[in-house]
Order: sequence, then structure tokens, then C-alpha cells
Amino acid sequence: MKHYNVIVIGGGHAGIEASVAAARMGMSVAMITMDKNAIGRMSCNPAIGGSAKGHIVHEIDSLGGAMGLIADRTGIQFRTLNKSKGPSVWAGRCQSDRKLYSEEAVRFVFNIPGLEVIEDSVVDAYAEDGKITGVKTERGNEFGCDALVVASGTFLNGLMYTGPNPRIGGRYEEPAASGLSEAFAKMGFVVDRLKTGTPPRLVKSTIDFSVLEEQPGDENPQPFSRRTPVSEFPYLPQVSCYITYTDESVHKILEKGFDRSPIFTGLIKGTGPRYCPSIEDKIVRFADKPKHQLFLEPEGLDNDLIYLNGFSTSLPEEIQFEALRKIKGLENVEMARPGYAVEYDYFPPHQVELTLETKLVKGLYFAGQINGTSGYEEAAGQGLIAGINAALKIQGKPEFVLKRSEAYIGVLIDDLVGKSTDEPYRMFTSRAEYRLLLRQDNADRRLMKYGYEFGLIPDDLYKELEQKEKLITQGFDFASNHRVSPNEINELLESKNSSKIDNGETISKLTKRPELTLKEILLAIDEEKYPVVKAILSNEEVLQQLEIELKYEGYIKRQTELVKKMEKLENTKIPPNFDFLSLNTVSAEGREKLHKVRPRSIGQASRISGVSPADISVLMVYLKN
Ligand SMILES: Cc1cc2nc3c(=O)[nH]c(=O)nc-3n(C[C@H](O)[C@H](O)[C@H](O)COP(=O)(O)OP(=O)(O)OC[C@H]3O[C@@H](n4cnc5c(N)ncnc54)[C@H](O)[C@@H]3O)c2cc1C
Repeated sequence: MKHYNVIVIGGGHAGIEASVAAARMGMSVAMITMDKNAIGRMSCNPAIGGSAKGHIVHEIDSLGGAMGLIADRTGIQFRTLNKSKGPSVWAGRCQSDRKLYSEEAVRFVFNIPGLEVIEDSVVDAYAEDGKITGVKTERGNEFGCDALVVASGTFLNGLMYTGPNPRIGGRYEEPAASGLSEAFAKMGFVVDRLKTGTPPRLVKSTIDFSVLEEQPGDENPQPFSRRTPVSEFPYLPQVSCYITYTDESVHKILEKGFDRSPIFTGLIKGTGPRYCPSIEDKIVRFADKPKHQLFLEPEGLDNDLIYLNGFSTSLPEEIQFEALRKIKGLENVEMARPGYAVEYDYFPPHQVELTLETKLVKGLYFAGQINGTSGYEEAAGQGLIAGINAALKIQGKPEFVLKRSEAYIGVLIDDLVGKSTDEPYRMFTSRAEYRLLLRQDNADRRLMKYGYEFGLIPDDLYKELEQKEKLITQGFDFASNHRVSPNEINELLESKNSSKIDNGETISKLTKRPELTLKEILLAIDEEKYPVVKAILSNEEVLQQLEIELKYEGYIKRQTELVKKMEKLENTKIPPNFDFLSLNTVSAEGREKLHKVRPRSIGQASRISGVSPADISVLMVYLKN
């Protein structure tokens, strides 16, 4: 029997990151996936990033992951969302060429030394003495492993619905995976069902774009990855998306199909994504809304398909078609294929540690949709953490856990483990309490040190970061201490309707005026006299970091102090075998929740819903004793 250090089940977004990271950390890795040409396939919308998700892509990139690089190579429209708001919510998003994304992902994976791709379906998994030992495939092959990462997406016992009759399948024209859920259930894992859905695909040439609102990309598109050469970016021609709306006549037609809706008739038992509801859900839940916005997104450059974002549905095909033709711009549309919902098995994520290793079976990791999340980015972030931890454990090194104050990926996993989830979990900026610190623009400053330590970030990139950090420190000192004279600055202040100064004022204080930018202030200073000013002005990234840190200095300081305060709780560790059930003076609910989640620190325990501050006080006294 062939043995690998790490076996990864699945070639989706989680599987790619897990297998690439583990292989690049020196492990022998097998990615076993049902269809090697479907590696990196986008099951739903052809887009990467977006609000909070863009942050995760930047974080993956800073840790040395693949998603940003692949997205940059295959993006056909790049936009920074929320640019009119504060920097903590700026988020990159790109429309991807679906076919090219998958092809690029295949190329990427096949070029990683130490990573073997096996096209097969895993039907069973084995454990001995509470430790994973190997898997069996549909073709009857058995493989041994030290660690197994399961990144099986929506495929486990997948059932697809368009109208009332389900078909077995994991995704459009792909079979479901059977056997694995049962194998894990036999090991003692709790398994449950979730559902998600996708809209119909439309034939581009049958749409009247002339009556629709155009949504072009950014004039100056920004890549996700620091490893993407800016001079070559964007790699592909850029295209526009379009916007249209449903109206009451569309809703009326959709309502005709409600008696055959697998959601409303109870055929689908799994909970769907509350924040990404189907069109039929929207009509019922927001009955007072006469219209809903829809985005027409191209599936690719050399592709006649349009993805109708916002119109996810599992209603019967003829109802979908009739309703589409009532929508402005779609009066003559042809539907290339109907929308559908998929219901699948997942493993409620209180069953994994913050490393994504399962609590029940050592060496077994769950990552991605299998943990109850929804979205490519959420999956990829987990895959990376699982792959890194699998490698670290095999190497006998300390585990890698990102804190909530360090990364959205940390927030994601902490939420999953501590709160579990009974609906598809997606990331929002509002989930992060320290979001001013977790900006996409400073992901490299937060996380690249880890990627470098694991050997996933090249030397030259890390050196570049160190130089940048040095200049930021110098710049911050200079801005805090150097006083600009009235002579130097008053002309600028007057032109900006900003009150003039009578005495010298620090750059730091001036930058806090909303009407002024740091660049304008620095340009008013003689840069020949101050080399640091010249250096900052010639480095856009440093300029941006300084501008944000100076403008929001007060808020950033407050969040940093809060993090320090909380760190005490985060650093108060709970022994792995602590008997929570013995805490007689903790409330019954608190005891049960603590026992279920098995938190590893007081900080983590304090975030579990149902565990009260009084319970935490008792727990702390026990630990002290
Ligand atoms: C119909 C549909 C609609 C969706 N809608 C949305 C949406 O609106 N918004 C959103 O954010 N996300 C949506 N998603 C979810 C998104 O596709 C996933 O979150 C994301 O792809 C999960 O990544 P993953 O790596 O966990 O799994 P996937 O990308 O699903 O990849 C799973 C991989 O595992 C392989 N695999 C599974 N089982 C086995 C096995 N036993 N043996 C070998 N290989 C196996 C598969 O072949 C595949 O390569 C949707 C998905 C589907 C299918």
C-alpha cells in the first residue's frame, strides 16, 4: 500500500490550498479528487473576493497560498468595493473567466513538486487507536497516510433539485460522493445537512444589454497577489457587468411555482444560506420589496454564458424561464441551463480544533464546505490552515492558529469552532471585532511572517516587506515629530479651505484633517532636505499605510489596546483534557456547551454562546486552583 504524509480529498478551493501548502512544506502529498480537470472549478458565481472575502484572499496570499495568484491570472474585471467608505471595508473583487480559472488551477497544482494528483473517489477512511491511517477509493485502491485533509465541498451524499424531483449529484453534471459520510459517522462524528443554490445561466447573445445599467471595472485595477508582477497586470482584457431588476410581474410568475418548490414543500431539509437567499426566499421574506437587483456577470471571455447573480433558484425549469422573460433586457433570453439547489452532508464544526484537526480522530482535518461554510474564499482559507497544520504536526512542530485580532481567517475558524453553525457560514466584515486592524491593505504586514516561517513566501518578497516596514516606522516617527512651518503649508491649507496655522504643526496632526492627504502635506516639504520624505513619496504602499495609520491613529490605538486587554484571556490556556462536566457551579447550559466545544483558552470559552460571564469566572477560579 502506497503511503503519503498527507492525503487531501478534493481538488476544490480548500483542497488546492491544503495540498499545495503541505507539499511546499516538504510533505509527500496525494490529492485524490473525482475529476482532475475540475480542480479549482467554481461551482457557483465566477468571481473571487468581495466584501470580507477579498480580505481573506489577501490573507491567503500573504501566507503564501494560491488563490490570489490564480485569480489575478484569470480575472476579467477587477474592482475595489466600498472605496467611498473607510479602509477597513475596502475589498477587492474580481470577475473570473470560469474556464481559465480552473485551467490555471490545474496547471498550478501539477507544477508543485511532491504533490501527486490521483483521479478517483474516496469511499472509506480508516483510523486506528483514534488516529487516521488511510483511505480506500472507488477503484479499490488503498493508500496510507499520516494526515488526511477532507475538503469534499458539496459532494457528500449530494442531492440536486430543479423543481420537486431530486437527482443524485454533487454539482452540475458531476456525481455525488458516497461512503465517506458513513465512514466518519461510524467513527462517531455528527453529520447534518445544508443546502445552497445557484441561478440559471443565460445565453449572452440573446440579452439586450443596451437597456441595462453598465458596471465597468476599476480604471486602475489592483491585483490580489503580491507575487503578481504589476507590469504584466491585468493579464486579460477587461469586461463590464450589467445590472437589471425583478419586478412584481416576475414575482407573480415565480409564486406560481411555489407549490413545486423543494424548499417550500419541505423536500429540502438542509438550511440554506440566510445571507445569500434564493429568489423565491427573497420574495417571501421581503414581501414588501417590489423589486430585487440582479447582476449579469460574464462567465468568461470566450464564452456565451451569463451568470445571473441574485436569481439563485430551485423552482421548476419552466417557471424559471417564464419569469426570466419578464425581466428588463431578458425579454428574448434563452436559458442555457436552469438554476438548481444542492443539499449535502456537512460536519458541524464544533467537532474540529482551531487547527481544523478533528477532536475525535487525530491526524484527520476537515476544511471548507464540509465545516458548514459557503464560499470559495472561506474554503481556501481553511484549506491553507489545515494543510499547514497537517505538515507542522508531522514535522513535530507547534500548531498554527491565527488569532481573531490577526486575521479574518482567525475570526472564521474561531467562530466555526466556538459557535458551530447550522446554516452555511459566510464571512462579513461585521463578524470581526478588530476590523480596523484587519484591513486588506495590511494583510502582508500581519501575516507574511508566518508564510515566510513555513517556507511558503520567497526570501525576496519577505525582504521587501522588511524594507517597507522599516520605512513605515521611520515615516511614522518623522510625521509624529517633524513640525511643518506656516510658510511651508499655509498655501496648501488655504487652497483646501482648511484653517491656516500660526505656529509649526506636526505632519501627524495635519494628516488627521479630513480635507488633506498625507501626500499633499509631504509635497509641501522640501524633500531634498529630508530623505525620508523623498523615500515615502516614491513608495505608494508606504504612503498608503502611513496615511491610514495617521488618519485613524486614535481608533487604531483603541483597538490595539483592546486586543492587549483580551490577550490575557486568550493566553489563559485550558488543558486539552479538562473535565468541563465536573464544573458543578457552572450553569447547566454553560457546562454542556463547554463540554461540546472543548475550548482551549478562556478567551475562546468566553465567546461560546450560552456560556455566561459568571460561568467564565467560575472556570477561571477552577483553573487557578
Ligand atoms: C450549486 C452550488 C451553489 C453554490 N452557491 C454559492 C453561493 O451562492 N455563494 C457562495 O459563496 N458559495 C456557493 N457555493 C459554494 C462554493 O462552491 C463552495 O463554498 C466552495 O466551492 C467550497 O470549496 P470546497 O473546496 O470546500 O469544495 P468544492 O469546491 O465543492 O470542491 C470539492 C472537491 O472535492 C471533490 N470530492 C468530493 N468528494 C470526494 C471524494 N469522496 N473523493 C474524491 N474527491 C471528492 C470534488 O470532486 C471537488 O473537487 C455553491 C456551490 C454549489 C455546488
